[in-house]
This record gives sequence, structure tokens and C-alpha cells, in this order.
Amino acid sequence: MIDRVVYPKNSHEEKAGSVLYYMQRDQRIIDNPALYFAQQKALEYRSPLFVVYPLPVEQNGINNYQLCFIMDGLEKLRTRLKEKGIPFFLLPESPETAVFKMVEKVKAAMIVTDFLPLRLKKIIEKNIERKSPCPLYVIDAHNVVPCTLASYKQEYAAYTIRKKIHEQLNEYLNKPEYTIQNHPYSSDIFQNEREWEELVTACRKNKSSVSTFLSGEKAANDTLKVFISEKLPFYSLFRNNPVENAVSHLSPYLHTGQISARMIANAVLVSGNDKKNVDDFIEELIIRRELAENFCHYNINYDNVNGFPGWAKETHLSHHNDPREYIYGLNELEEAKTHDSLWNAAQMEMITTGKMHGYMRMYWAKKILEWTPSVEQALNIAIYLNDKYSLDGNDPNGYTGIMWSMGGVHDRLWFDRPIFGKIRYMNYNGCKSKFSITAYIKKVNGELV
Ligand code: FAD
Repeated sequence: MIDRVVYPKNSHEEKAGSVLYYMQRDQRIIDNPALYFAQQKALEYRSPLFVVYPLPVEQNGINNYQLCFIMDGLEKLRTRLKEKGIPFFLLPESPETAVFKMVEKVKAAMIVTDFLPLRLKKIIEKNIERKSPCPLYVIDAHNVVPCTLASYKQEYAAYTIRKKIHEQLNEYLNKPEYTIQNHPYSSDIFQNEREWEELVTACRKNKSSVSTFLSGEKAANDTLKVFISEKLPFYSLFRNNPVENAVSHLSPYLHTGQISARMIANAVLVSGNDKKNVDDFIEELIIRRELAENFCHYNINYDNVNGFPGWAKETHLSHHNDPREYIYGLNELEEAKTHDSLWNAAQMEMITTGKMHGYMRMYWAKKILEWTPSVEQALNIAIYLNDKYSLDGNDPNGYTGIMWSMGGVHDRLWFDRPIFGKIRYMNYNGCKSKFSITAYIKKVNGELV
């Protein structure tokens, strides 16, 4: 267990007392090492365990259906935690305020939180660490091989991290599941039902029906089962074809931590599917995903041009003044009003379903680069739209995917060409040779394909 501690963040000594799990990213009970660690500490000190989730009610950019997806999952999680004797609190406050209110309320002797390698969470942890009267532990509950143990530095590309992860992978896949037991040390501090209901109602008041995804651990598991039985046999063949339904659609569940990547990997590995399909899927689920975590953890500029490799910065500089045939502003892009019906369909797929197909995401981002006056503007627009509309947005995968598309992160140099320089290019005709564009547009419009 101790190998998943990213850091005890402050120098306070551990004392006996209640344990508070500040849940941010890993919103699940099954196979959650951070919650498990918190419970083990509470058991050691024969004390109650509490969970707090700071609800981002006023968070800029977060879409109503993203909020509803989180809320639906938390409601189910709360019930399951209650059955285990672990009170759950939803506080409509900033994380620091929520955590300190709870520390005081339950007289917490220790705070445990999950690991998210993004700037805001790291700042929050620093502030908690600075002001906290008790120790703060950060546990990596998201990566199969813990991020800081997979590598201690920023990796250059998939080929440099692959070996490092594979060397440790079996060890982590084979560790016993982190099972939460009925908690024997109870407390009479619970969130008042009325307060809870009011918060849930407030969140849902503008509930939009755009999302096609059910939320929660059961929905995540059902999605996994469907993937393994119906889609995994075609994964290698069709995963880059947005007309076929061959991808897992697990990213919204992975993003909110409603399912553990380790559980998914183990289920896929014992599924008896063809080796090529299994290997290709594990490559995406573990190597590519954990490479993105590595990038965001070790590169503070994971969402701006300073995070590009040197060659990409240079190539963008030398093509900065290249003329653009089309230039679009944020509104035209957001409203899917470009000359390119394929791009418009991809944008609409993201807005109407909360998720764009992975292959289209690359095309979508590269065209934004081609149609905006500068790479800086292109990056800002792509990040803004991706985070605003994707159920899996605001994620290391998103920042890294956009930095790959526009800034050559984890990619190699290509032939020099206008606007893109040596960044890999994608075009409409390339897509046409891979899948039926008409069928994709029809699919997005809800017409029979
Ligand atoms: P599957 O093909 O079924 O893959 C299973 C899992 O593997 C995914 O859920 C994901 O966790 C991981 N994975 C797959 N492809 C990648 C990849 N290229 N990089 C890292 N991990 C991967 N992913 C997000 O989770 N959130 C985002 O906001 C996001 N934005 C992206 C933006 C751009 C411009 C690009 C190029 C990629 C982005 N990705 C993002 C990565 C990838 O496209 C998605 O993870 C994938 O499409 C999710 O769909 P799925 O679960 O059905 O994928």
C-alpha cells in the first residue's frame, strides 16, 4: 500500500483520531487504493472514517451535464458508503474550505486525498498542507503503475515509458483488490438529509438530457461488460473508425474514477479475446493513459506552448506568419459553423453526446490549429471546448491529446508544410480513405447508417 503514497505532504506527526478522505478524482468504492488507505489508517487508530467531496457548483467552464454525471455517481456512492458505515459529505465550497470545515467538524487527525497531476489540485494540496493541523497523504488511486514509480521524470514518448511500465505491470495487476470493509468505528456525524436533497436539486435544476451516458460504478461495469463481449473482438480493426461502434466508451468513467483502470485491464486480460485486440487495448488504457499522467505531472506547462518539445516550438515560430485559407473565431467553431462538414459533425458529436470519437479528436484539434491565427489561440480554443463539452474533459488525457495534436508532444517530426511546419498533418481526404464520411455525419445527426 505504501508504494502508492505520492507524498505525505506535511511534517505533522500522525496521531490517533478520525480520518478524512478528501475525494476529488477517484469517485468509487471498488478497488480504490486512496479510500482503502484512509480506512486502514482509521482502523489502526480505531476511529471513524469520513469522506468529503467539494462540489464545484460555480466552477467556470463545467457543463451542466458534466455536473449531473458527477452528481448521479456520487448519489449512488453515498448510499454504498452509508451501508459500510462511512458518512459522505457533499459541500458546495472550494476544496480548501470544504476540507477545513470537515477537519474541524469531525476533529480529523489525518487527511487523505487521491492523486491528480493537474495544476489546480496541486495548488489546493499545497494550501491544505500549509494550513492543516494534521498530516495530508496523497495516494495514487488512478494509475495501474503509480505515476511517480513508473518514472521519476518526464518521458519523451510512448516507447520510452512502455518498457518501464511493463517491467512493473504484473506486480500491480496481481496485487489483491483494495476492498472496503464495513467500518466498525461509527460516528453520529452525518450530512443532514435536507441539506443533501437541496444540493442535489440545485445541481439538477437545469438538467440537460444531452448525455447518453448513465453514471456510477454499476454503469461503468456494465459498459465494460458490453465492451468485452461485443466490441473488443473488433477493437484492432475498427477502433480508428468513428462509424463503427468498437471503442469502449469507458473514458467518462475513468475520468471520474468510477472504475479502476486496473480492474478493466484484469477483466480484459482474462476475457479470452484475441491477443492483438487485448494488446492494442492495454496499450491505450495503460501506456497512453499513463504517459499522459506522466506528462502532466512532470511538465508544469502541460497546457501551453512552453510545454512543446524544442523542435515544435521552433517549427511553429518559423510558420507563425503563414497565410491561413480559413480563419474562424471561437463562436463559429463552438457552433460548428465551418466550411468542413466533417469537422462540424465531430464538434456536434461532442456537444450532443458528451464524447467525440478518439479518431475524430485528432482531426478536430489539428483543424483548429489550421484555422486560427496562432498556435496559442488554437490551443486555448481546443482546451476550452474540450473541457466544456466532454464528459471526460479536464483530464490529463485531454491536455496531452491536444498538445500531441498541435505541439508534437510524444510524436516525431514530419515533413515540413505550411502552418503545421513539422507537426503531423491530417486532412479530409485522409479521413475519406479510412471511413465513410457521409455515414459518420448521418450517425451524428441520428440518422440510420
Ligand atoms: P478506447 O479506445 O476504448 O480506450 C480505452 C481507454 O484508453 C480510454 O478511456 C482512455 O483512458 C485510454 N486512451 C485511449 N486513447 C488514448 C490516448 N490517445 N491517450 C491517452 N489515453 C487514451 N481522453 C480523455 O480521457 N479525455 C479527454 O478530454 C481527451 N481529449 C482528447 C483530445 C484530443 C485532441 C485527443 C487527440 C485525444 C483526447 N483524449 C482524451 C484521448 C482519447 O481520444 C480518449 O481517451 C478516447 O477517445 C476515449 O474514448 P474510449 O474510452 O471509448 O477509448
